[in-house]
Amino acid sequence: MTVNKFIRKLLKLKELVVCGYELNERKRQLLIFVKPYKNGCRCPKCDRRCKIKHQLRFYRQWLDLPVYGCQVELCYRPREVLCPTHGRIQENMPWADNYSRITYRFEFAMLIYCQIMTQKAAAMLLHIAPSTLSDMLHRAVTRARENHRIRDLKKIGIDEISYCKGHKYATIVYDLKKARVVWIGKGKGGETIDQFFAEALSDYQKRHIRWATCDMSRAYITAIETHCPNATLVLDRFHIVKALNEAVDEVRKQQWRQAAPDERKALKGLRWLLFKHSSKRSANDTRILRALNSGNRRIHRAWVLKDEFEHFWDYKTTWAAERFLKRWTTTALKSRIEPIRDFVKMIRKHSHRILPYIGSRLTNAIAEGVNRIIKIIKNRASGFRHLNAFSNMIFLTVGDVDIPEQIPKRFRAI
Ligand SMILES: [Zn+2]
Repeated sequence: MTVNKFIRKLLKLKELVVCGYELNERKRQLLIFVKPYKNGCRCPKCDRRCKIKHQLRFYRQWLDLPVYGCQVELCYRPREVLCPTHGRIQENMPWADNYSRITYRFEFAMLIYCQIMTQKAAAMLLHIAPSTLSDMLHRAVTRARENHRIRDLKKIGIDEISYCKGHKYATIVYDLKKARVVWIGKGKGGETIDQFFAEALSDYQKRHIRWATCDMSRAYITAIETHCPNATLVLDRFHIVKALNEAVDEVRKQQWRQAAPDERKALKGLRWLLFKHSSKRSANDTRILRALNSGNRRIHRAWVLKDEFEHFWDYKTTWAAERFLKRWTTTALKSRIEPIRDFVKMIRKHSHRILPYIGSRLTNAIAEGVNRIIKIIKNRASGFRHLNAFSNMIFLTVGDVDIPEQIPKRFRAI
């Protein structure tokens, strides 16, 4: 076996011929001179074999996977060919994408590493600078998403997320059926979500959305109701529960402020207890809360109302749920506790958007699961200064396009 053939076998350089090599020990760099197997000369767009017009005078280099800490680069002088359909064009290099500076397998390794570790760690493994890696990653993600169209979107979820200290928000649109992120936009207002419906979806696609869920934000509700004529909007259960919990907490805070120092002792440690779902409470927890009946009537009243409201989610038929909601809101209004009354007003205003939950059981829970992954991404990078970098990482990890899958199959190995 010749040395060239040995290198080719050792480094698994498929579909090309090794013509020579150069090892720079000081720089820890191995240059491998290659050419496409079977002489190449194919048009990158239609894969037809074409006539050679011109060969570059200098070598172009493609970064390949490192070997034992040694940077490997493939060198080749590409030729220009004349395609009858596409005209004068640079020939197809089977090991890399057109005009890319890295080989397919390097790109694949980079994408997989970045899904599971920080960019800094991935850069270390691949022996490149973190800033270079970040550039390459951005290019790879952008290219994979460039010609992508959203498909088969029937259930959507809309939520907001903060991505930087100092209240910078982004709007995320989920495909709830596939549990994937389909769109990310800057801001959390009406303009952002209108932009999604205007840019990403056709009229046909908007008509085909059957279910939508979001929080109580007016911007999202208005956008869904104007853009998706056939969608049933279900307000997200978890946001409603959260709003009720906040109302109960507000009552607790008010009482705390009014209480005398010796009364405060009894109110200590109540915060998390009041938040707990009845199924998660221990007997002791319930005893403490019951004792409030003689201790602090207003907090006790708010807690009882909160506990009663939990039943709403268990109803199987809409008419029964509606009857429950009517009774509950009437009782809650009579309580004369201001934060609870505000919650009731919200429920009454949105009741036609809450009741569809009973039939559909649709929530943003899937989106919350995806959000957990997004939070991991955010924490791993210790926050993102620009939304662009953040959305690249989101699309790479939980986006609707499997980006590493875009690399030709034979190069998907690390
Ligand atoms: Zn062609």
